[in-house]
Amino acid sequence: MNKYEPVIGLEVHIELSTRSKMFCQCSSDYFGKEPNTHTCPICLGLPGAMPKANSQAIEYTHMLGLALNCQIPLSSKFDRKNYFYPDLAKGFQISQYDLPFSQNGFLEIQIASEHTSGVSKDAARHTPEVGQARTKKIGITRAHLEEDTGKLNHATIDGRGVSLIDFNRSGVPLVEVVSEPEMNSSEEAKAYAQKLQQIVRYLKISDVDMEKGSMRIEPNVSLRKKGEKSLPNYKVELKNINSFRFAQAAIEYEIKRQAEILDSGKIPVQETRGWNEFKNQTVSQRSKEAAHDYRYFPEPDLPPFEFNKNYFVKLKKSIPELPDEKFKRFQDEYKLPPYEIEILTRGQKVANDFEEAVKIGNPLGVTPRQISIVMINKKPDMGPASIIKGIVSSLTIIKVATAEELHEIITEILAKHQKAVEDYKSGKENALSFLIGQVMRKAGSKLDVNSVKSMLQEKLRE
Ligand SMILES: [Zn+2]
Repeated sequence: MNKYEPVIGLEVHIELSTRSKMFCQCSSDYFGKEPNTHTCPICLGLPGAMPKANSQAIEYTHMLGLALNCQIPLSSKFDRKNYFYPDLAKGFQISQYDLPFSQNGFLEIQIASEHTSGVSKDAARHTPEVGQARTKKIGITRAHLEEDTGKLNHATIDGRGVSLIDFNRSGVPLVEVVSEPEMNSSEEAKAYAQKLQQIVRYLKISDVDMEKGSMRIEPNVSLRKKGEKSLPNYKVELKNINSFRFAQAAIEYEIKRQAEILDSGKIPVQETRGWNEFKNQTVSQRSKEAAHDYRYFPEPDLPPFEFNKNYFVKLKKSIPELPDEKFKRFQDEYKLPPYEIEILTRGQKVANDFEEAVKIGNPLGVTPRQISIVMINKKPDMGPASIIKGIVSSLTIIKVATAEELHEIITEILAKHQKAVEDYKSGKENALSFLIGQVMRKAGSKLDVNSVKSMLQEKLRE
């Protein structure tokens, strides 16, 4: 196994959350809707229907391109990709060939130091000791815009196997993000896909929900001998993967399978394989002898685009602070450990709540670290106000735990733990220790155990 180095690239399809479809006015909110209710002559591909490009979808694609550090050409166009499949009524898909909306970008992933095995990097990332994580740049070949296809549903009706077609998805705007084959392990591929998902969520251009199919991952995997730099002369594409876990499992399975074939002196077949989650293995779907001939040509029904610089200036302003920038700023401003920042910046809501809590807490003497710890260990989704209230009240009790306060706490604890009180009164000494513990915890443990014990006993005699 260790003779080989995996070479992995990823194609990721992302459905954009525009209100209407890519080339018609039908609603693109199709998930879970009655089949064939979100259709019109354009997205059904009827002869003579004229497409009109959705400018919001183009803006979203450009935003993603900018967020992925891509070059954005000022001129672009759509092309026809010709092929026949039942889920594609027109016999061609409108896509982009040689002038995509964005190309030559990159994104950065954090990976654990190189030669550790892949067993528990996820766990390792969340422990404070991990300082050896390093950043790796993964090249983005292109991010282009196309239309989604319809969906085939295979069913049995009157004992016969049939395929039903639902065109609700047909024509939904779809961005395809193609990476360079620069990942060398399943962990790196997973980190790349998760980072891409996080960036798209920050941009709010898709819900990138893998279960619903609004984000779909297709890894391509091959192996080369360690130390070699050129690309292997074959690759295997993996399809039908609907979770990060399956993506990682499918890649792992392929690495082993291909290593065995190479060990036997053969070369793995260039093909597309699907992931069977029940058998936990990849299965051959179709072999691909050569590149498809899609006979691409410029889409005659849509004029080419010329974008001006002002448009991009405006668009850049609409891009929010992205995960990497936020991470860096949290490091500089709040001096938190990286594993805490990683959790706090996973989504914008938690990050915003944290910063809001810092603002409220600052004049009360609550530090960012105290807030971070509460949010990470307890409830990241509790509101800033209740986080601060919780921290402030626990600080107050520690400071002013007088006899009076203690009385109050004890009364509260006794009322709350009636069962323990009864147990104690019926002779179970253990119940007293339990109640002492509860009081100490509530009071912030800065109390003398013996005085708590005697005060408790006194109260219990009442
Ligand atoms: Zn339509």
